[in-house]
Parts: sequence; C-alpha cells; structure tokens
Amino acid sequence: MPELEIIMGGYSINTDQTRLGLCTVTLIRGEVLSIVDVAHFGRRNLLVDALDAHGISTNDIGRVILTHSHWDHSQNTDLFPNAEIVIHADELDYTRNPRAGDLATARYFANTLLGQNVREVSGETELEPGVRLIETPGHTRGHVSVVVETAAGTVCVGGDAMSDAGAVARGTPAIIFWSEADARASVQKIIAAASTIYPGHDRPFRIDSDGAITYLTESPTLQVSGVLHYASGAFTVDIGRAAHPGTTVMPSALDYQGGGHNHPGHC
Ligand SMILES: [Zn+2]
Repeated sequence: MPELEIIMGGYSINTDQTRLGLCTVTLIRGEVLSIVDVAHFGRRNLLVDALDAHGISTNDIGRVILTHSHWDHSQNTDLFPNAEIVIHADELDYTRNPRAGDLATARYFANTLLGQNVREVSGETELEPGVRLIETPGHTRGHVSVVVETAAGTVCVGGDAMSDAGAVARGTPAIIFWSEADARASVQKIIAAASTIYPGHDRPFRIDSDGAITYLTESPTLQVSGVLHYASGAFTVDIGRAAHPGTTVMPSALDYQGGGHNHPGHC
C-alpha cells in the first residue's frame, strides 16, 4: 500500500511584510514516488536537501501533483525532469486568464510548465491503486486533493482546500480566491473522504469520532535570524499569538455568482 511522509512542513505564518507561504510538501511512496506540491523558490534548496535526507534525488520523482497553482505550492516543478506534472484542467486553464484581483496566481504560470510532461485531469481520477484525486474547488477554481489508502487508514492531502485544522470548525479554508460556496462543500468532501488530513499550512491531524482535533506531530520550532539594522546588529521580532484570523474571502471571489466550479473566471 502507498506510504506517506511529510518532506517539508506546512506553516501559517504572516508578517506585516508578507505571508510566508510555507506549504506542506508530502511524499507518496507508491508504484512511483510522487510528491504533492513543490513549494516556492525560497524553499528550493531546502526541498532538495529534504528529499536527499530521505534518500531521494529529484530525478527519482515520477509524479508531481499540484493541488493548485498558487505561487507558494508550484514554483519548483522544474526540479523534477522525470516527473509527470498532474494538475486539474480547470486550474491550468484559469491561470492563463486569472481574475484581476487574484494576485496569488501568476499569469505566466502555464509557461513554467513548458517542456515538462503535463497531465491535465478532471473528475475523480485514480492515479494508481490507493492514490486518487478528488475535486475540491473553492480556494481556487480547479483545486484537487489527494486521497491515499495507507496501511494506517485513509489519508487526505488537502492542500489549501483544508488549509489548517481550524477549517474543520470554520467550515472554510483560511483564504478563498474562487467561491465560498464551493470552498464550504470541499471542506465537507474532504472530511467525508478521510479522518486523517494533511493540511496545506498546518500539521497533520486526525478528526476523532466526537469531532475533536488531534495533531499527529509535535509543534515545530521556527528559527528566525538575520540583520535588519546593521548598526545595531539586531532586530526585533514581535510574536503575535492572536487567534487565527478566520477566513479571508479575497476580492476576486466576491463577484462570484455561479453555482458550479466550471463557471468561467473573468477579469
Ligand atoms: Zn493557495
């Protein structure tokens, strides 16, 4: 049966300068080695090193599954020359003409896949025994999640359709770019598919029969270093421990009027 490992953890960390955009990168050891999401350029070396620590070269990866095309999940596909790049057809189509207010989708994204073996999928797609894609739109137009049958039970790698464990209680992911109605339906679809979930920007967790959330890994420590003020050689980091801000519906999603995820995007 396929096995899952977290190659790089997912975090939900924002500063007054940027969202850090640190997504979960998951390895599936099945008939081929697959990875789900490939992170952004800023984690490129770390990704190579993390795979190496698992005894895996970038040439060994036979399949890259992109849950969606956002920059923080998708910039390193070119590291994997032997992989087929799996993405939903609606997602790839949308990137060629993203809504004007959607600044997380690069208009040049499709060009970054030129020369690679791209496999566009739609509907529920079995990639190999025990590994299938389900459509989970809402965060983006063509978002997919990966349902994996492991020896320990069914796991859903939820990407940003299930951004964090709080999405279970909220009923929505942290950010919605496409459709709130679709995003709500996708959270329920993921919960129905698996009780163990690997979220896009949080630690793996289990939903117990009483609805309680149990994290499956320890809380990580993030080290911050650098020099912002050379003369003093130090800078200050204020750590906010405020409650999760909840769901942000991006302006690009507010004009959405359709009922299905095939509604064409407009600029
Ligand atoms: Zn995203």
